Amino acid sequence: MNSKDKKIDSVVWGGTVITMDASLSVISDSVITISDGKIQNVFSQKSFNPPTGVESIDARGCLVMPGLINGHTHAGMTLLRGIADDLPLYDWLQKHIFPLERKLGNQEFVSLGTKLACLEMIRSGTTLFNDMYYFEEATAKTADEMGIRAICGQTYVEISGVEKASEVFQKFDSFFKEIQKYKLVTGALAPHSIYGLSEKLWKEMVAYAGQNDLMIHTHLCETKEEVERIKTERGVTPIEWFDSIGLWEKRTVCAHSIELSSSDISFLGERNVGIVYNPESNLKLGNGICPVVELREAGAAVSFGTDGTASNNNLDLFREVDFGTKVQAFKYGVGKLPARESVKMLTIEGAKALHLDHLVGSLEAGKSADLIVMDISSPHAVPIYDWYSYLVYSASQGDVRDTMVAGKVLMKNRQMLHCDEKQILDEARRWGIQIKELNSKLQNPR
Ligand SMILES: [Zn+2]
Repeated sequence: MNSKDKKIDSVVWGGTVITMDASLSVISDSVITISDGKIQNVFSQKSFNPPTGVESIDARGCLVMPGLINGHTHAGMTLLRGIADDLPLYDWLQKHIFPLERKLGNQEFVSLGTKLACLEMIRSGTTLFNDMYYFEEATAKTADEMGIRAICGQTYVEISGVEKASEVFQKFDSFFKEIQKYKLVTGALAPHSIYGLSEKLWKEMVAYAGQNDLMIHTHLCETKEEVERIKTERGVTPIEWFDSIGLWEKRTVCAHSIELSSSDISFLGERNVGIVYNPESNLKLGNGICPVVELREAGAAVSFGTDGTASNNNLDLFREVDFGTKVQAFKYGVGKLPARESVKMLTIEGAKALHLDHLVGSLEAGKSADLIVMDISSPHAVPIYDWYSYLVYSASQGDVRDTMVAGKVLMKNRQMLHCDEKQILDEARRWGIQIKELNSKLQNPR
């Protein structure tokens, strides 16, 4: 049966669609028909009458666009939002985050943190997040319950002598088996960083990814110290070392990628490596600025990411894109990363960086119906001369009126339809009180 013959389940109609397809088509008086979670057709029709018996979203006077993509986050640690601010990376991690995670790291903490994260993401227009954390089985389960699309990367930091590699991979085997049942979830391997695992284990990770056709998600070249240490110990840059073990032949996505040489940049651009730009986290921790303009000129696909809420402290991609675009203007000169290009990074290019552009990132027939409807009636949205300029420089998360993932409406008229928002927030506040007490005990041991 031709896909066009399939029964329509829902229709989003009357709005102006920015499709983010290859020619950046913008369609006014649009009609998007959806069947089995996929976009069946996108076309323009004035005076459209929605068919009866199907879910109908009236988007007249609104902007419709692909859902936003968060290329790098740690949803499970959302309860640590704001627990330790204004500290450099090392102190922040070693004195606050790691000790707290050692005490709190369990399924319950990760589930509730992920619930809170999903709530914030759905409310701010994110429909796909690329995650990296511990207990990712809990993240996957929660993302599935909340109805949002996720790439769940089970992270690993090696503590020598604690586990044998065979045990690590056995655990991975059961994780990937367990999450197969969640249709919006893709599993990934997330070795923490070049310094977080031994050379031997990194090689085994790359081999395991190859055997199981998995994407690898890691933190790369986040600080000068990291790069200098690898150069001193191994005589090559992290990019060169990873090349020697075959990482770049796999589907890979690298967060941060700040400290890169010009040959590293050309090399990454020539390979199919996805890069994630996390400007708010990188600047808050004082780490530096990802060379986004040069990476894109070299051919790399770059996504925006928020990183976790302990270093951001929000998951709002509208704030991220506004700030991040201006930071690139400061680094390279005004106009080197125009608003239109930043919106690509939030959508279709973000999807490419995560190796999922066959499925999401643009509103075209055959792709998943992952989309948002933006209410553009607020004073800060008037007038609009250019859609991309509005989205990057003046839109805010409160403009997101409806959020849909795989044809299912998760938020309609700012109301969450499939979760108890108050319950999640109350529970998170209760945990917040306990975490604050725990943190002060850890900081002031008797
Ligand atoms: Zn991170």
